Amino acid sequence: MADTTGWVWHERYAWHDARGLMDSAPPEALFEPEPSLESGVTKRRFRNLVDASGLLGRLVAIDPRPAGDEVLAWIHDPAYIEDVRARSAADGGDAGTWTPFGRGTYDVAALAAGGCIAAADAVADGRVRNAYALVRPPGHHAGPAGGSGYCVFSNVALTALHLQRERGVGRVAIVDWDVHHGNGTQATFWTDPSVLAISLHQDGLFPVGSGRREETGAGEGEGATINVPLPAGSGRAAYLDAFDRVVRPALDRFAPEFVLVASGLDASMCDPLGRMNLTSECFGVLTDRVLDAAGELCDGRLVLCHEGGYSSAYVPYCGLAIVERLAGVATGVADPYLDDDRTVAALPLRADESAAVDAAARIASRAWPRSSSR
Ligand code: ZN
Repeated sequence: MADTTGWVWHERYAWHDARGLMDSAPPEALFEPEPSLESGVTKRRFRNLVDASGLLGRLVAIDPRPAGDEVLAWIHDPAYIEDVRARSAADGGDAGTWTPFGRGTYDVAALAAGGCIAAADAVADGRVRNAYALVRPPGHHAGPAGGSGYCVFSNVALTALHLQRERGVGRVAIVDWDVHHGNGTQATFWTDPSVLAISLHQDGLFPVGSGRREETGAGEGEGATINVPLPAGSGRAAYLDAFDRVVRPALDRFAPEFVLVASGLDASMCDPLGRMNLTSECFGVLTDRVLDAAGELCDGRLVLCHEGGYSSAYVPYCGLAIVERLAGVATGVADPYLDDDRTVAALPLRADESAAVDAAARIASRAWPRSSSR
């Protein structure tokens, strides 16, 4: 079993009601109602393609259990937890900024955090080699006092704290490749040298003004936050350059005992909320990169936790490519979008992409965790 890949999914993840696309807009806004882009459909289609491809049968199902309030309170204010619970038991509301939710969301959000934790436990126990937690709602924008950008509870950060507080893990590295900045995760570990938080994201996207490369942590945590904002339109060459020149050297220097990935699939070329150009093949190669790093640095202990990704058509293929690499299984399923876009995958590194990676690498090399914090 230990050489297998764990898989977390629960049908209830698809039942979280993210309400309408403009439910957070002023009531006077003139907008024909439309479902939220953050939809259970996208994730369920990812799960269904993994099933239809035959890969699901090769994975080890890990049952998620809801994270308790005492765990959620590691990051979130009790008043916020209680507010989500109370409104979830009534008619829903907005968890903060752009995070509308309906009845029952508290339970699903607690199950999302618990699903990521269950995946990490399965890896820590040696029951599986690595795992993908396909959870919803996402988490990396959520903060102590409120949700943000569809995120209710801070799934990945809570998982890192669980590993440290309950499983005796010391240094945890988080690689966030969601197209948006992982600001909630960053805030949690801003002064904490024991968690390396790296975010690759589209420059200036969401939250606006957040995730600048100069944001490197503070106090004891100075240097343990690394931001790699990339220009809109960045593709395979930029992401691999960023991984090889910023992410991997930082991981090598930090020497994590466990690697978590905040796996948003909204840097894909089809995403309605991002302007990046990744194909399924590139998500596969990025997965190979983190597999190599985790394999060489921490006996392969690696969990990917799902974050954003809003193309219901394309997320399934990007997700399948990732899980194939984790499991070391090639299903033979062809990405129907890939042939037409080989030109996208083959685009050379643009000057502005290279400059962005240069700048991030310069800052990261100066600010990498100090040896005294190791
Ligand atoms: Zn995102």
